[in-house]
Amino acid sequence: MTRSTIYAVATGGFRAAIAVLRVSGPESSEILTKMVGNLPPPRVASLRRINGADGLPADRGLVLWLPGPRSYTGEDAAELHIHGGRAVLLAVSQALEAAGARQAEPGEFTRRAFLNGRMDLLEAEGVADLVAAETDAQRRQALRQLEGAQSRELAGWAERLRRLLAWQEALIDFPDEDLPVTVEASLLNDLAVLRIELDGAVRDAGRGAKLRDGLVFAVTGAPNVGKSSLVNALARREIAIVSDTPGTTRDALEVMLELGGVPVTLVDTAGLRETSDPVEAEGVRRARARAASADLIIRVFDARDGGAADGVSAEPCVLLVANKIDLASSVAEACCVSAATSEGLDRLEKELADRAKALALPGGPVLTRARHITALREAALALAAAQDLPVPELRGEELRLAMRALGRITGAIGVEDVLDTVFSAFCIGK
Ligand code: GDP
Repeated sequence: MTRSTIYAVATGGFRAAIAVLRVSGPESSEILTKMVGNLPPPRVASLRRINGADGLPADRGLVLWLPGPRSYTGEDAAELHIHGGRAVLLAVSQALEAAGARQAEPGEFTRRAFLNGRMDLLEAEGVADLVAAETDAQRRQALRQLEGAQSRELAGWAERLRRLLAWQEALIDFPDEDLPVTVEASLLNDLAVLRIELDGAVRDAGRGAKLRDGLVFAVTGAPNVGKSSLVNALARREIAIVSDTPGTTRDALEVMLELGGVPVTLVDTAGLRETSDPVEAEGVRRARARAASADLIIRVFDARDGGAADGVSAEPCVLLVANKIDLASSVAEACCVSAATSEGLDRLEKELADRAKALALPGGPVLTRARHITALREAALALAAAQDLPVPELRGEELRLAMRALGRITGAIGVEDVLDTVFSAFCIGK
């Protein structure tokens, strides 16, 4: 298959000191030669004059020639580190197009790296997650995935399945009398152990996904108990994470904080009122839906009505908060605060961070996406089925099903249909 040569601005925004343009594909050397006169030595930054489409100088900058297969994509590639102004970027982009390159699609560089065997699908997803990471814990999780920690764990499981399958075949091909009687027993034992591990991985993946996607804490309680004041007080003290969609209704209802390294969206249900504005109504509808499936309910009541908490014992997904403690004495069973004087806010923040960590920080490298969890579950179910089957031939089929499910996670097996979904979520230039 002949591929086109693609280019993209890899750095963000205009008017930076430097912008990096990356180029990848079979015509990279030709294009680079045309634009900078001759090919610089491989993998050495060289200062060159960079010509525009008209052959006149467009800029001066560092040029890197990165011949495949030892490049990010595995193809011949190049980087141009140019001045980050609008006119320079335009002139150099036009020169690249005139020389035969076309603008890359989102994720196209990483997609090529995957197709050329430079990384598996899990590692590629790690790249996207690292670029998108907003908190330190998210960054660490993505970096582990990019560096292959999860891929190695999957490879270990696949290898054990392959061994089980081999023993299984042996059981079918040779009559029992030729094999030690312990073979089948130890096979079933290994099968059981592997299944327990996969079940554990499914549970951990739930936390990995929480860390990747963020938690939702809903603030509920009767009118006027101080919900909005509390959300504001917390938002002012924490560095609120900048939302992707500024100026939407959501901003008024939700604030995103980093608590214990985990991104947490606080939804203020006091702001959820009826409205005739369709855009605002949609924002309210979404916030309501998010609050309904919140990971933690922060139930606020007025400390003066200590009894308001009655009946609501300390459920694991509910945190009781007695507000306006400046006007009352403390209430047992609740986190006592005053949004007005900030009394108790430190303790509340620590409690919230502890809850966030318990809900979302996995102990080791874990899988993080819905498609991983689906495949892991499928593998665990196939192993469970294999355990229950007395007929060796049928057991083999279930083991093969489990292997295929695991193979789909790293992209080793039948993934054409998931590629578009995975790579379309990338930035252009990655
Ligand atoms: P919401 O309806 O639950 O969101 O309540 P608000 O945040 O709008 O607060 C209702 C009223 O209680 C406002 O007048 C606030 O100034 C006041 N308030 C909120 N928190 C405190 C507090 O800790 N102490 C005191 N004394 N007043 C508070």
